Amino acid sequence: MISIETSFGLRDRVAVITGGASGIGKACVQALRECGVHVVSADRTYAGGGKADEVYCDVTDEQSTRRLAQHSVNAYGRLDIWINAAGVMEVIRRTVDQKPEEWDRVISVNLRGTYLGCKEAATVMQRSGGAIVNIGSVAAMAGIPASTAYGPSKAAVATLTRNLACEWARLGIRVNCVAPGYIDTPMSRELFKDDAEVRDTALSKVPMRKLGQPMDIAATVLFLCSSAAAYITGVVMPVDGGWSASAGAR
Ligand code: NDP
Repeated sequence: MISIETSFGLRDRVAVITGGASGIGKACVQALRECGVHVVSADRTYAGGGKADEVYCDVTDEQSTRRLAQHSVNAYGRLDIWINAAGVMEVIRRTVDQKPEEWDRVISVNLRGTYLGCKEAATVMQRSGGAIVNIGSVAAMAGIPASTAYGPSKAAVATLTRNLACEWARLGIRVNCVAPGYIDTPMSRELFKDDAEVRDTALSKVPMRKLGQPMDIAATVLFLCSSAAAYITGVVMPVDGGWSASAGAR
């Protein structure tokens, strides 16, 4: 019998995961390590120093992102997988009350950060191919009041994914995007503000009526990085308990 691990072909691959200290990124770090991947986890929360293979990176900073790619090459001699999971949510308020600086902050981490990550990954991967997975959001797929930065940043991540997939296909670099729905992480806890009513209203729009777990996203990321997805590039895959399928119906 062929084991999942063998058919996924991930053992001894080398991966960089941004946002690796928390939530979805952290689950990706764990899932890939379980499959025998050498993972460099990168996050700005490692500013005070982390364990081995925990590297400080501010994804909005070109030099910082370049050093991260170089770290994986120096440590392991290669780079096969890059997962852009670092992201921030905006402070939800009426658009007319939003400061442009807040808009810039969200666009900078979610879009510029993903762009820089893809660029530095491909600079190394153009030699021998690889797989890039961007974490988008279903917030890119519908009109959400007072989400003038987050939703548009994730819509742009989806378009960036498709464009880069087409540009880099001939280099053997696959670029895909996972679009999570409501996932139980510090980010969604901040959104729900420990308010059960806010959470239940959100869940009433999810056909499966529950939050996803970070591992639900990590499992899809793992698949997209693996040789099981060798012919998949440029897709934006919702993992959302049916949220995007329901088109707002309850
Ligand atoms: P978390 O807040 O739990 O984790 C995000 C991590 O990214 C944090 O450790 C954060 O550090 C880090 N980070 C933020 N900005 C930077 C930066 N400039 N450079 C390096 N690291 C940074 O969020 P999630 O795990 O929930 O989110 C992961 C991704 O999934 C994000 O892109 C998010 O938009 C997306 N997503 C999440 C959903 C959810 O319901 N949870 C739904 C849809 C999409 P710090 O704590 O310092 O900010």
